[in-house]
Amino acid sequence: METIIISNTNDLQQAADILQEGGLVASPTETVYGLCANALNEEAVKNIYKAKGRPSDNPLIVHIADLSMLQPLVTEISPIAKTLMDHFWPGPMTLVFKASKIVPKVVTGGLDTVAVRFPSDPTIQNLIKTSKLPLAAPSANTSGKPSPTNFTRVYEDLNGKIDCIIQGGNSAFGVESTVIDTTSEIATILRPGGVTFEMLEEVLGNVMIDPALGHKLKEGEVPKAPGMKYTHYAPNAEVIIVKGEKDKVIAKINELVREGQNLGKKIGVMATDETLSLFNADTIFSVGTEKNPTTIAANLFEVLRKYDDEKVDIVYTLAFQTTGIGGAIMNRLEKSAGYHFIEAY
Ligand code: AMP
Ligand code: MG
Repeated sequence: METIIISNTNDLQQAADILQEGGLVASPTETVYGLCANALNEEAVKNIYKAKGRPSDNPLIVHIADLSMLQPLVTEISPIAKTLMDHFWPGPMTLVFKASKIVPKVVTGGLDTVAVRFPSDPTIQNLIKTSKLPLAAPSANTSGKPSPTNFTRVYEDLNGKIDCIIQGGNSAFGVESTVIDTTSEIATILRPGGVTFEMLEEVLGNVMIDPALGHKLKEGEVPKAPGMKYTHYAPNAEVIIVKGEKDKVIAKINELVREGQNLGKKIGVMATDETLSLFNADTIFSVGTEKNPTTIAANLFEVLRKYDDEKVDIVYTLAFQTTGIGGAIMNRLEKSAGYHFIEAY
């Protein structure tokens, strides 16, 4: 298949026509690039799973560009959902509602709920408005790999497999949306993201975190967000997180690098601007500045992919703080490492 590239994000009529005809279009959003199809067209949505190689029980988020598009998709909008919508839409927040009958089961992975987001990025808003369709859209990457935060990575994974890619700039947040279940009495975070626990707590007072988050799932454990049980965000390189006091972590990583190199492996280190000069390794990248963790979120997936460009075998990384956006950063990093930690003593 020939993939059409659209670089003028102000003229999305051709991309909208492709969506109307049941095709697939990758678009920038403020979180990561998304792979879009008409959410109400079963065949089109099935092709998303095919193009990505995504397991079919991992449901998709439906994207809207006007609050009037929500009502037909859901059976109930709880007071909690209303409050959250008022505060954080448009933006990097996905809410889970009871699904109406018009939402195909292929979108919800067979669940009776549907996840909906109103993104703030003007290009995806323009695409939704021009096509006049709710768009089902997971991240626009091969399933399992780090999500794409720029056009080049989408092209790398999906050129020739989808109908169209819209070439926008880099994603502002760089990690996917916060997913929140609004169908229970207390709002529950199913996936941490750009709208942080602290932001939600300030608005709602009481917020829960799905108990399946923050550790490797045990046999038989079922997370409420089915996607959280799959390997995710993983480069080809093995990623290992080194935890502990900073000085000790740096010394430990340098020791692990030497050991790996002695075994003939190519070793990478994921550092920060503050620690970059303190490491010796084959490939060292800074993921951002510790003073501003939003830079770390924005760069994380791209930096993980850069180790693969350099054919690195193992990446050792610092652990980051888990407050604010750090909750989402560490969730993605833990998953990309398959929860492989080393303590530095
Ligand atoms: P992605 O499309 O890769 O950003 O992943 C979407 C995330 O939202 C996955 O973790 C899904 O499991 C989760 N999700 C989507 N729909 C639902 C739903 N109806 N209930 C719970 N989680 C959902
Ligand atoms: Mg994804």
